[in-house]
Amino acid sequence: MECDKIIKVTGLTKRFGNFTAVDHITFDVRKGEIFGFLGANGAGKTTAMKILCGLSLPTEGSGTVDGYDIRTQQELIKRNIGYMSQKFSLYPDLKVWENIRLFGGIYGLGFKEIKQRTAEMLQSLGMEDLRNEPVGSLPLGWKQKLAFSIAMVHKPPLVFLDEPTGGVDPETRRMFWEMIYRAVGEGTTVFVTTHYMDEAEYCDRVSIMVDGVIADLDAPDALKDKYGVPDMDSVFRTVAARRPAGKEAAGA
Ligand code: ATP
Repeated sequence: MECDKIIKVTGLTKRFGNFTAVDHITFDVRKGEIFGFLGANGAGKTTAMKILCGLSLPTEGSGTVDGYDIRTQQELIKRNIGYMSQKFSLYPDLKVWENIRLFGGIYGLGFKEIKQRTAEMLQSLGMEDLRNEPVGSLPLGWKQKLAFSIAMVHKPPLVFLDEPTGGVDPETRRMFWEMIYRAVGEGTTVFVTTHYMDEAEYCDRVSIMVDGVIADLDAPDALKDKYGVPDMDSVFRTVAARRPAGKEAAGA
């Protein structure tokens, strides 16, 4: 059924000069799922994700995100989804509450709503005492949790997380995933890239990108069965070791 797909793309392609970073990928994401977007460094994940977030236009291909066209409705996509980038988008010199106010405004919330969301967020993060701290002075794990909450400040139906737990300790990663599950419990769809294969196990479905192509896509258990291996780390290594057809000669 069409209506249960929050992302739907066909033949999505992005070239930079002669180099094809994303090579005719076709897939969909179902409403309410945690969709893991895996791939080695340089596989093309961020490039594809930027197109889905309305930040970049595809060279070829078509698709919709939350019902909006990725070619012609980029502004509507940006306003209606949440995006937590790999490099922090938060302003380190601004205080915690100032960052929330700024992004609330960017996402189109009114003054009263921003005030209310700020109080709610600080309370649920346990950060009330830190509201006047500059974001730059917070430990990395706190910054990441705050960045996630800010990406959700306008309660979007879909949030994109680009390596949200990179560089943090396992305990903080666990807490971060609790936040993800809470968001999913409230009806949000989560599209997440990660290098941590234990996190891939937490996803409902994962796609594995190799050299700009989706080499496989399924539920973690189905992939483990298919390749006859016990964990996602082994699945990833098996799939990533295979070069997509046509890419061998290029050495891409
Ligand atoms: P990582 O996990 O390191 O973020 P990734 O899978 O997200 O990797 P991308 O950042 O999408 O990979 O990059 C895919 C390829 O496209 C890389 O070889 C990269 O150098 C190239 N690339 C990305 N952006 C540009 C650009 N603006 N101009 C030229 N090449 C680019």
